[in-house]
Amino acid sequence: MALIANLRHYLGDDLSLVEIPVPAATLREFLGCLVEAATSRDPDDENYVTPFKCRLHCNGDIFALFDPGDPSTIVWSCMSCKDQGMLTGWEGTVWDKSSG
Ligand SMILES: [Zn+2]
Repeated sequence: MALIANLRHYLGDDLSLVEIPVPAATLREFLGCLVEAATSRDPDDENYVTPFKCRLHCNGDIFALFDPGDPSTIVWSCMSCKDQGMLTGWEGTVWDKSSG
């Protein structure tokens, strides 16, 4: 099942880390890590595996990359189970390393 998420829904209006229920905060942290991995990677690097492990505790490697057809969307997937998702709304968040 794919998780379609907009990171802004987990943040305050000013993109601050507002207090949200623990499950949502855990997911926010996971998605944030993927944003950091995708936006800090060398654009020429085609190894999309992130340092992060699957949120479903299968311990699989997670890869994340910009959707080739829509760079505002980050697509990610677990290489062991079928956990996967699409993420938007990450621009300008604390995890976005693309603007320096
Ligand atoms: Zn997994």
